[in-house]
Parts: sequence; C-alpha cells; structure tokens
Amino acid sequence: MKTTLTITSLTILILNIILNATSQPKVEMSEVYEIPLASNQASSLPADYQSLLPAGFRTPEKLPAKISDPLLLTAWVYLYNLSEPITIYNGQTTSGRELAEYARTQRVPIQWGSDDICRGNSCSVRPTCPDAACVAKFKNNKTITIYLSQRYQENSTEMLRNLAGSMAHELYHHTLPFGPVKTSLYEEYWAYYIGGSISKASWATFDGYNPLQAACLTQWFSDHSWKGLNDHDLYPFTLTGVTVDLASQTCTIP
Ligand SMILES: [Zn+2]
Repeated sequence: MKTTLTITSLTILILNIILNATSQPKVEMSEVYEIPLASNQASSLPADYQSLLPAGFRTPEKLPAKISDPLLLTAWVYLYNLSEPITIYNGQTTSGRELAEYARTQRVPIQWGSDDICRGNSCSVRPTCPDAACVAKFKNNKTITIYLSQRYQENSTEMLRNLAGSMAHELYHHTLPFGPVKTSLYEEYWAYYIGGSISKASWATFDGYNPLQAACLTQWFSDHSWKGLNDHDLYPFTLTGVTVDLASQTCTIP
C-alpha cells in the first residue's frame, strides 16, 4: 500500500515537472528607466555621510544588506525617514519608509550605474509577460539590481534628496505595481509622482493632470520634455478597477 502510494506520488510529481517545464510561458526581461528630465552587510553609516542627513533624521538599526556604497546607503536612510503617506491611484498610499523597507526586506541590490549600465541614467531590468496567462503563472525568482545614475554622486544634502527620489522611483518600478508587464506611461507617471514627492522636485508639476485621461497622461510627459513617449503603452493591460478615458482628445487642466 505504502509503496503504491509512493509510486503514485512520484508519478504525479514527475508529471507536474514535465507539465510545468512545457507549459511555462516565456517571460522576457525589459529595461525600466528613469530618465531625468533636466552583498556586503552594512553595519552603520560613516560619520561624514551622517552629516548629509537633515536634522532629526535617524539611522535605523537594521540597514539593508544589499547596499554597500556609503552614499547610496545614506540615500536609503533619507528615504527611510520619510514616513508621510503619498497618495497614489485608487486611494492607495506608499511612502519613502515603505519603499525603503521593501528594499531591505526583499534584499534588493542597489548600485551605481555607469555610461555602459543604463546609459548614464537610473534603471533596472524587469521580467515582462506578453499576456494574462503568463502573468497568472509568473513567479519572480530572479534577483534584480537597481542602478542609480552617477549624476547624483555629489556629497550634498540637496543632491541626496534627488538621489533618494531616484531610488524611490526605481524601487516603485521594482515592486511591479501592475505585475510583470512592460512599463506603461501610467506606471511611469506614478514613478515620477513618487520620486518627485520624495525629492520635492521643482521641475515636476502634477496638479490638474488626470492620468486616467489618456490625453492628460501624454500631455504630462510632453510638458516635461520626456523622451520615450512613443516607446511605451499608455496603460498596462493588467490595469483593473479604474475607468480610463481614451476618447478625449485634449487635456483640460483646471
Ligand atoms: Zn521610470
């Protein structure tokens, strides 16, 4: 009896392996950029970096294991200190703290980019599915590194704020907010919104643009001289729970 059961279980297991191997949809990797518009365990923040943080900011006891560069680690600490909720779509919120904790608990490697990596910008790669069937079966088993632009390599409090904003932008992409699909303008809009809220970017205005109105969504990117408008879908095919206005031809900003 026991032998029969074991053999049956083994057969099912082998069948499952074969089925999984053959029916697994193809997942491609694509790059996710933030194009600016204009495993070593870290134990503490070096004192000269500590002084870059605004008064009252504290360094938590648990630091992320996958950020070893001291300036990047300081930007992470900056992000961690911003616990004010940022309201995004559907009444959802996020915060600098939440994204920093995501980086730490998910052990997201964060490093500097280069001219060769990310073409001098901040970016990461991401798994992308072509259809809903692939999304449904998707399991994320790859470690995906975030690269931050070296243009933020300046030891000043103001630049640290921009670096933390870029880190938040890329971390938001890293969470795959709409699943393993190509980045859409809608996702980019929110990545910029979150990054801009963190860095208090003066170049970015979001007031009056309704990103659920396609005309406003594209208007935001053209108003901010964003290159790459034509390389992106407007909305992810996984978007649910919201009504999108694709018909209006113009964006009326109140
Ligand atoms: Zn982006």
